[in-house]
Amino acid sequence: GAGSPRAASGTAAVVQLRQRLEKELEDIRGAGTWKNERVIASRQGPHLRLAGGGAGILNFCANNYLGLSSHPEVIRAAVEALEKFGAGLSSVRFICGTQSIHKDLEEKIARFHQREDAILYASCFDANAGIFEALLTPEDAVLSDELNHASIIDGIRLCKANKYRYKHMDMQDLEAKLQEAQKHRLRLVATDGAFSMDGDIAPLREICQLAQKYDALVFIDECHATGFLGPNGRGTDELLGVMDKVTIINSTLGKALGGAAGGYTTGPKPLIDLLRQRSRPYLFSNSLPPAVVGCASKALDLLMESNAIAQSMAAKTQRFRSKMTAAGFTISGKDHPICPVMLGDARLAAVMAEDMLNRGIYVIGFSYPVVPKGKARIRVQISAVHSDEDIDRCVEAFTEVGRKHGALP
Ligand code: PLP
Repeated sequence: GAGSPRAASGTAAVVQLRQRLEKELEDIRGAGTWKNERVIASRQGPHLRLAGGGAGILNFCANNYLGLSSHPEVIRAAVEALEKFGAGLSSVRFICGTQSIHKDLEEKIARFHQREDAILYASCFDANAGIFEALLTPEDAVLSDELNHASIIDGIRLCKANKYRYKHMDMQDLEAKLQEAQKHRLRLVATDGAFSMDGDIAPLREICQLAQKYDALVFIDECHATGFLGPNGRGTDELLGVMDKVTIINSTLGKALGGAAGGYTTGPKPLIDLLRQRSRPYLFSNSLPPAVVGCASKALDLLMESNAIAQSMAAKTQRFRSKMTAAGFTISGKDHPICPVMLGDARLAAVMAEDMLNRGIYVIGFSYPVVPKGKARIRVQISAVHSDEDIDRCVEAFTEVGRKHGALP
């Protein structure tokens, strides 16, 4: 009938494929690592409506750090860009996919980070997938924190440089690896600026000192820092006073900067020029749609007009962290709006997260293999648009649920 699947389903190869896939899916369910997607029926924000009911859900698991995802001026800018520049370019950048708004946004990103130039991608995943292969050859070396984001790991896999993995934020190990890597032409240290599972911040001062000592370059992924870390929200390099020592920044437009989509690299002009010639996710993928460019561009305007927005989240984060600690919970990381409530046991994290939702609070439990065995947690993310009452309600619910399930005495 109309709309029913018509793909070949009876051949031996298809039957075999289905059986293999069903078995793999069953294994995932069996391991307890199946990821369910909750369907949201409203805009992104601190208060959500879920599909099929569930209004007034308090949301603590988006990367909407500054609340710009549904900011009226950001939405208006997207609508204006859509009307003026159309739905999309139907082209990659170098054929006929570059509009004035793409160039303006790249210039704005470079100015925001105080770098020479910037290049846009469809996502930061793409920015990370493209940079290492374009920049590094078998003569070079890359030194990567073992807990770096999956997209950095994949990007490094794609390049032919010599690969060194150092223990998470372990400066002794990084130094040892830098010594080993002295034999190569160029050394690039790659780290997340802020790590999204632990809410911890890379020791960039020490990393930059080591980089100077061993003549290495520093690359940071600022997806969980751009827009809100540091006095003006420039990121971990501003927070730690090393803006002049970090050479390359990759970050996203899909989190604090309006949350639509998109990523970028910013750094020295010849590097950006080279990426436009060589970076495969840039060369072989469609241009960012105008509405998406409009969102990010307005978000950056708002951040560059005043540092009030960048500062707006810190007090909320502090309120949550100190109240939860006083209630007896262990919160990993420091001063970051990613607040992992450490529980240890995977089942405990899952049932507590479920029970929080029963109380109208949306948080997510993480367990192995996303985080190490025995380090299961519920990750809470604070946004500037949470009210003090929202935060207090979340702490109260955690306290009740924690007592009920034995996480608190
Ligand atoms: N890098 C880090 C550290 C991230 O957390 C993410 C987001 O999930 C990405 C890269 C990918 O960013 P995007 O969503 O723009 O592809």
